[in-house]
Amino acid sequence: MAYDFDLYVIGAGSGGVRAARFAAGFGAKVAVAESRYLGGTCVNVGCVPKKLLVYGAHFAEDFEQANGFGWSLGEANFDWATLIANKDREINRLNGIYRNLLVNSGVTLHEGHARVVDPHQVEINGERFTAEHILIATGGWPQIPEIPGREHAIGSNEAFFLKQLPKRVLVVGGGYIAVEFAGIFHGLGAQTTLLYRGDLFLRGFDGSVRTHLKEELTKRGLDLQFNADIERIDKQADGSLKATLKNGRVLEADCVFYATGRRPMLDNLGLENTGVKLDKRGFVEVDDLYQTAESSILAIGDVIGRVQLTPVALAEGMAVARRLFKPEQYRPVDYAMIPTAVFSLPNIGTVGLTEEEAKEKGHSVQVFESRFRPMKLTLTECQEKTLMKLVVDADTDKVLGCHMVGPDAGEIVQGLAIALKAGATKRHFDETIGVHPTAAEEFVTMRTPVAG
Ligand code: FAD
Ligand code: NDP
Repeated sequence: MAYDFDLYVIGAGSGGVRAARFAAGFGAKVAVAESRYLGGTCVNVGCVPKKLLVYGAHFAEDFEQANGFGWSLGEANFDWATLIANKDREINRLNGIYRNLLVNSGVTLHEGHARVVDPHQVEINGERFTAEHILIATGGWPQIPEIPGREHAIGSNEAFFLKQLPKRVLVVGGGYIAVEFAGIFHGLGAQTTLLYRGDLFLRGFDGSVRTHLKEELTKRGLDLQFNADIERIDKQADGSLKATLKNGRVLEADCVFYATGRRPMLDNLGLENTGVKLDKRGFVEVDDLYQTAESSILAIGDVIGRVQLTPVALAEGMAVARRLFKPEQYRPVDYAMIPTAVFSLPNIGTVGLTEEEAKEKGHSVQVFESRFRPMKLTLTECQEKTLMKLVVDADTDKVLGCHMVGPDAGEIVQGLAIALKAGATKRHFDETIGVHPTAAEEFVTMRTPVAG
C-alpha cells in the first residue's frame, strides 16, 4: 500500500525533530506535527530558558565577589521584565532556526494537534494522513499533586512567563527542577523556601553531593525544609497564598511553584485507537528498538519515561531514524554512563555510579574526595566550597563514577564522561597531567582514598 509518508512524527521537540530531520536526510518522506512550539520543552520551557535564568541569577554573586578584586559597583538593580523579554526574543530566534532546520531538510511541517486514528493514520487540522511508521515524540508535562488549592500553584511552564518576580516563593519538590528554580528565585532576590517531602533532596544522586549541596545552599541563605509537604493552599484577601503543611505549620508566599515530576503527554493523542500499551507508570511501553506493542508505532523521549534528558531524546531519535531508513548505520543507544548536570547554584555534575549504587552492585569501592575553596573566591568573603569525588572499583581500578558540586561542574563532567566511557582506571586519572591552575585538575590529583 502506498502511504502519504514513510514516517509521521508527532511532536517537534528534541527527539522528534532529530528523528524527522535525519530520516528525511536518509531519503524518507517525513512529516512532523507540532501543536505548541518548535523545539519542544527544551527550547521553550526547559533547558534553554532555564539556563538563561540561571545565568541571570548568578550575577548576584558575581557583583558581590567583584569587590574583592577591586571593583566597586553602584547599587545593583534587577529587572525581571527585561530578563524575560530578552529570553523570549532568544527563544523566538531558536524557534525560527528549528523551522528552517526542518524545512531545509525536506520535512513537511504540520502545525496543530495530531491524533492517531488508526495504526497507520494521523488526523490533524481536520485532515488525515497515512504513514508506514508513526513516531510518538510528544514529551511530558508538569505533574502537580491533587491537593486543595492546587489551582493557585504554578509549574515550570508558567514560571518562565511570570509577569513579575514574586517576593516570596515556596518551591515544592526535591528533583532537578525544584533545586534549579530555587537557585534562580533566590539568586534574583526572592525570599525562597524549598519544601521536600523526604529527608534529603536529589534522591538518586551521590550522598556526598546531596549533603554538600544542602550545606552550600544553606550557607547562601536558601531556606531548605525537608520532611515537609503542603496539604492545602488558600488564596488570601490580599492575593497572597497561605500554604498549610501536613504537620499543621502555615507558610505565606506570593507564589507556590511545584516541581514534582512530569507525566507523559498523551492528551487526546488517540492511542486507544491502536494496540499501544502503557507501562505501570503510564509512560508508553517500548522495546529496545523503541517499538510499541503496535508494530507500526514507535515512541522516544520523555514520553517513554526512561531518561528524561534532551541528549537522550536526541540519541533515541537518531537511533530510530537510522534503524528505519539507514539500518547499516544503526547503533543502539547506550544508557550507561550518561553524564548529567543540575544547574543549581553551585552546579552539580555527575557521571557513572554513585558510591551507594557501586556498593549495591557488589563492587568493593574506594572513594576519593576533595573539598576546597575555589581560587576565584580567595580574594572574596564567599566561603563556598567545591566538592569532587571519584568512586573507584578497588579490584579493577576502574573509575565507576565522578561527582562534583561547584562552578562549571556540568562543563567539567562532560570530558570525564568520555574517559569513563572509554573504561578509564584510577591509574589513567593519576597519570594524566593537570591543567593548572583550574578546579578540574583536582580530579587527577586525588591520591589518598577516604577512610572507608
Ligand atoms: P519535548 O521536547 O517535550 O517535545 C514534545 C513536543 O510534542 C512538544 O513540542 C509538544 O508541544 C508536542 N506535542 C505533544 N503532543 C502533541 C500532539 N498531540 N500533536 C502535536 N504535537 C504534540 N534536559 C537536559 O538534558 N538538560 C536540562 O538542562 C534540562 N532542563 C530542563 C528544565 C525544565 C524546566 C524541564 C521541564 C525539562 C528540562 N530538561 C532538561 C528535560 C528536557 O527538556 C526533555 O528531556 C526533552 O525536552 C525531551 O524531549 P522530547 O522530544 O521527548 O519531548
Ligand atoms: P524529578 O523526578 O527530578 O523530581 C521530582 C521531585 O518531586 C522529587 O524530589 C520527588 O520526590 C518529588 N515529588 C514527586 N511527587 C511528589 C508529590 N506528590 N508530593 C511532593 N513531592 C513529590 O522531576 P522534576 O520535575 O524535577 O524534573 C523532571 C525531569 O526533567 C527530571 O527528572 C530530569 O530528567 C529532567 N530535567 C533535567 C534537568 C537537567 O538536566 N539539568 C533540569 C530539569 C529537568 P521523591 O524523590 O521523594 O520521589
